Amino acid sequence: MKIGIVGLGLIGGCLGLDLRQAGHTVIGVSRRQSTCEAAIEKGAVEAASMSLDSLKMTEVVIVCTPINALLPTVEALAQVLPPETVITDVGSVKDAIVTTATRSWPNFVGGHPMAGKAESGIDAAELGLFEGRPYVITPLPETKPTAVDKVVDIATTLEAQIQFADPATHDKAVAWISHLPVMISASLIQACVQESDSTVKVLAQTLASSGFRDTSRVGGGNPELGVMMAQNNREALLLGLKNYRQVLDQLTQVIETEDWEHLSTLLTATQSGRVDFV
Ligand code: NAP
Repeated sequence: MKIGIVGLGLIGGCLGLDLRQAGHTVIGVSRRQSTCEAAIEKGAVEAASMSLDSLKMTEVVIVCTPINALLPTVEALAQVLPPETVITDVGSVKDAIVTTATRSWPNFVGGHPMAGKAESGIDAAELGLFEGRPYVITPLPETKPTAVDKVVDIATTLEAQIQFADPATHDKAVAWISHLPVMISASLIQACVQESDSTVKVLAQTLASSGFRDTSRVGGGNPELGVMMAQNNREALLLGLKNYRQVLDQLTQVIETEDWEHLSTLLTATQSGRVDFV
């Protein structure tokens, strides 16, 4: 297959490496010339430029730009591609993207390969990132089955685990397991930073170890990503935060009233509940 990738960063670069290794022809487009050159050098694409016109002859175009550039990119592609080309994206939110993109391009299929790294950009791209990881495909009722099949072919090539979901259900699920954890982890760091007793704070900073490292990791990451998650998955994230606050209130009350039996019941339920998620 001749495949186009727009946005030659971490995800676009990883896709290019895997798809080329599987024998597909991959043409890249990115915003900066230096990124295009780095992607060619790395072997993620056969050719790359800053012009979407170079993708006219591709069968599928995978849009891998930051979330806020996904829709403008689909709109720009709609001006240059022949109507039979399938456009898909890799954005980590779907509801805000899929309906509008499908209006601009009936051959659009939403997708979300759920794999990543702490680093971003083409330099961080590597082979095999998606192997064994979920690849969520989010068609609408009107999405053409032939277009979905093309994305299934790509996910299969990556040896990813294909999951189907409607865009809103996808967003609610990732709010729970990805976006809410970022906000909770950020709140934890914020609460610690606000400790007013400097002796306690400095000692806590000195003693912080694996437990704090694990629980603070996702809240201490790239602020831009957190803002994009909140902007683009606002409703589902707010619902998650409200439910989470109820659980926190319940925990607070149980500890205030020294209801240790109830606390034990709650923690036993969370101990077994976690197993179903990880
Ligand atoms: P990234 O490493 O920052 O790569 C994005 C690339 O897009 C940048 O390198 C930039 O290249 C290029 N770009 C920016 N604006 C552009 C535009 N208007 N037109 C063309 N290229 C443009 O980010 P990423 O982690 O790969 O994330 C990309 C997408 O993947 C996002 O939509 C994200 O939601 C999704 N995603 C990310 C992860 C993850 O864990 N990282 C996982 C799953 C899905 P230049 O250097 O040319 O500016």
